[in-house]
Amino acid sequence: MKYFKKLRAELERYVNADQRLLVEKAYTLAESAHHGQKRHTGEPYITHPVAVAVILAKMRLDHQTIIAALLHDVLEDTLVQKQELIEQFSEEIADLVDGVSKLTQIKFESKAQAQAENFRKMIMAMARDIRVILVKLADRLHNMRTLSAVPQEKRRRIVQETLEIYAPIAHRLGIHFIRVAYEELGFETLYPLRHRVLKQAMKRISGNRRGILKEIEEKLNARLVEWNVPTARIISRQKYLSSIYKKMRDKHLSFFEVMDLYGFRVIVDSIEMCYRVLGALHTLYKPMPQRFKDYIAIPKSNGYQSLHTTLFTPYGVPLEIQIRTEAMDRLAENGIAAHWLYKTGETVSNASYLRVHEWIKSVLELQKNSGSSLEFIESVKIDLFPHEVYVFTPKGEILELPENATPIDFAYAIHSDIGHRCIAAKVDKQIVPLSASLQSGQTVEIIIDRQSHPQPAWLDFAVTGKAKSSIRHYFKTQPAVIFEKLDTRLSASVILEVRSRAGLLADITFALSQLKVNISHLEAIEKHAHAEIKVTLQVENRQHLAQIIRVLRKIQGVVKIRR
Ligand code: MN
Repeated sequence: MKYFKKLRAELERYVNADQRLLVEKAYTLAESAHHGQKRHTGEPYITHPVAVAVILAKMRLDHQTIIAALLHDVLEDTLVQKQELIEQFSEEIADLVDGVSKLTQIKFESKAQAQAENFRKMIMAMARDIRVILVKLADRLHNMRTLSAVPQEKRRRIVQETLEIYAPIAHRLGIHFIRVAYEELGFETLYPLRHRVLKQAMKRISGNRRGILKEIEEKLNARLVEWNVPTARIISRQKYLSSIYKKMRDKHLSFFEVMDLYGFRVIVDSIEMCYRVLGALHTLYKPMPQRFKDYIAIPKSNGYQSLHTTLFTPYGVPLEIQIRTEAMDRLAENGIAAHWLYKTGETVSNASYLRVHEWIKSVLELQKNSGSSLEFIESVKIDLFPHEVYVFTPKGEILELPENATPIDFAYAIHSDIGHRCIAAKVDKQIVPLSASLQSGQTVEIIIDRQSHPQPAWLDFAVTGKAKSSIRHYFKTQPAVIFEKLDTRLSASVILEVRSRAGLLADITFALSQLKVNISHLEAIEKHAHAEIKVTLQVENRQHLAQIIRVLRKIQGVVKIRR
């Protein structure tokens, strides 16, 4: 229990007693499951999930998220099974833990192309519940904090992956403190020498400037009181070393040429006050006109709101000032997680869920704007979601399949031999029919039998071109008996409501012949204002019929099609 103390203290501030008990139960399970395991640092493994949980508790995330954080490595690294988590906790918590494990299994490579693809997969994988990615981000934050114990080579890879994949996600989610921590720790790990030199320079200069900053702060305060802004909280800030370094590198400046090393943040209790503070400070020091930004009127795409202004001070140092309300400040630090702020008795609302989807859309947008992968752009459409499903192999690899794809499509997507020998499938460990539609996020396992072979009926529910053509190819190379079975097509009748015109019937029959459809019956019925044409067709399967209907609908004069 000794590692639990710090977490308990944090939880006591916002989680009720019943829920704390559940968190404690998760701790006990995690501790015994990880018993005997050690981290690179030599500490017992349990210190890691607890540290991750503390990060999330400081963000005031709900108790389910905290429990998922405590258990986030048990499926991967211990004997605990998902089923046990369902029984001990809930389906929701088990799904969260499972989601984090799957995310962990995605292997990122540094090659730009593979990376864009992985980035996309990651977004899809977390589409079901954003809390999965919040746990993952906190997990990565703690791993970054304890990097020094990790072997050199592995360390570089982790940092690269963090800066290329996780930092942009944290940024897009608006979780500022995590992104900054990634960048600071990354800078320190990749460039230890530069980091040390900058840190020392910063230390020296802040000694010199401490007096000046104190003086400025007093002046700001006095002016705000004069302007009737008595409740303002003023925080002085120092620029982060990674961002100073970036500025020096990008603008070819020496350390002493980087002027805006310091800034202030003014936090007030209303939007109206924000603008009053701005007015007050602009009477104190002249603003740099091109540096003023009103992110309150026009928030950043991650929801960030604040007023930014840079002032000329008489001390020769420009001073950046951020002005915002308490709520804006919370959002600026915690981003989307601020929307998860714990509310007793409330579960994740529909509105939050919508936000997730909105966010995913905008991440896709971000990736598009960054232009790092053309293929990514091409494959991303606004309506991407309803038309693709992302499912996992038991090893955690993600496969992308079209909507309504079945275990048969999955099996053939892995290998045609797996498809041919497929006899059954498990979805999330449950046996399902081979014709079941797969849903995003499911783990699919195919059971094969060396003696088994494809069934003609599979053609009725296979969706992907690969599965269909493999099945057809199999039958074409088999003795005629099975081939005949395949040729037994379905018969389907449709009724077309049409506006009569010359050549309409010819157009319809021509279209059907183009689609290589046999017409077994065709009959036209004249009515008053319109006519009906009843056709009976021989089709391969339901998908084939749907395709035919789509083509017929486009013919001029066809008003409506009924089955
Ligand atoms: Mn972990």
